[in-house]
Amino acid sequence: MTILINTDRLKQDIEKLASIGREEDHGIYRMAFSEGDMAGRAWFKEQIKSAGLEVYEDGAANIYGRLDWDDKRPSVITGSHLDTVPGAGHLDGALGVLTGLECLRRIKEEKIKLTYPLEVIAFSDEEGRFGGMLGSQALTGQLSPESIVNAVDLNGVTLTDAMKSCGYDAMNALYARRTPESIHAFVEMHIEQGPILDQMSFSVGIVDAIAGLFKWDVSLTGVPNHAGTTPMHLRNDAFQGLSEFASQLQRILDENGGERSVATIGRVELSPGAANVVPGRVDFSLEARDTEQRILDDLQGAFRRALSAIARRYNLMFEFKVLSEIAPVKCSSGIIKEIKQATDNLKIQSLQMASGAAHDTQMLASITRAAMIFVPSKDGRSHSIAEWTDMKDIEKGANVLLNTLIQLAGE
Ligand SMILES: [Zn+2]
Repeated sequence: MTILINTDRLKQDIEKLASIGREEDHGIYRMAFSEGDMAGRAWFKEQIKSAGLEVYEDGAANIYGRLDWDDKRPSVITGSHLDTVPGAGHLDGALGVLTGLECLRRIKEEKIKLTYPLEVIAFSDEEGRFGGMLGSQALTGQLSPESIVNAVDLNGVTLTDAMKSCGYDAMNALYARRTPESIHAFVEMHIEQGPILDQMSFSVGIVDAIAGLFKWDVSLTGVPNHAGTTPMHLRNDAFQGLSEFASQLQRILDENGGERSVATIGRVELSPGAANVVPGRVDFSLEARDTEQRILDDLQGAFRRALSAIARRYNLMFEFKVLSEIAPVKCSSGIIKEIKQATDNLKIQSLQMASGAAHDTQMLASITRAAMIFVPSKDGRSHSIAEWTDMKDIEKGANVLLNTLIQLAGE
């Protein structure tokens, strides 16, 4: 049996939520525990209630809408986040939450008998006002009292104070933890936030892995000197070292990376930083991502070797610090199969792909079977008011989610 979502209702919900927290520049400002976020949450809870579902809010302020829920059977959970970056578009996170709600509404309306209860969830602070993925970390037991107390935003506001001003006790996030036994499966629908589906004209992507990454702080140190009096062959020019390394990035990826590897030098600081001084030092960021840990390990080794060789050649000192390492996450092959089945039944062409961006799904994957459904982002744009997905693609993705949930909860 194939049932379909109510596209008009989903479209109305998307438009309504897009108006909450929207400012004059047309950007959306629903950063975690801000006024906009709280208004979005209040509206979402109302929608859950008017759909005849049970509203539940856990200690981390994750909002659940529950269908046929009891605490004896594990549930199938779908959802994403309602919070946004500053000046955001209207679909990142919101689409997964609203589509999840629409799916539960349709299953309730059709009175479909399922083996497992269904829950739609809106996770707290996915976007990182206080570090990111607060809600999904809480749910998967990855918070500690210390991490809660130490969480602070860019303006120095603590998570504890921000939650308190919204009526929450941040320490209660420790009680939001769910056991693996309480979850049967997790599926998140999200916009791709990259150009692949749009360029290849697919309406639906089935995510098989979420990329891991490493982030380094690198410095090359030479000698600052007079730009007029120091001959070229007597310079220890840190920028020359960096530019040589940057020109080798693609080669290093070709030789040591995989098809999905990417690397970025996103921040560069030259010192002393004057037009008439040979730069004596450069500090830069180096970030690389892939869906295989082995490839990430190989890349770390290759970057180290290349930078050491360049430092020797230009008489520079090479130092680096690993700022963060996040392991890649594999999605559940069982759920991938169910999603593929749903796309086949609905006669929708899909592409199996990786997610280059981080999502709540990677937290959930640590305690349950998890996977993601992507829909295209026009021109790959996201985290901006240029964010856009055609309603016909949203409709297809939503129908795939609906039928995947029915399969998973009925199995
Ligand atoms: Zn998101």
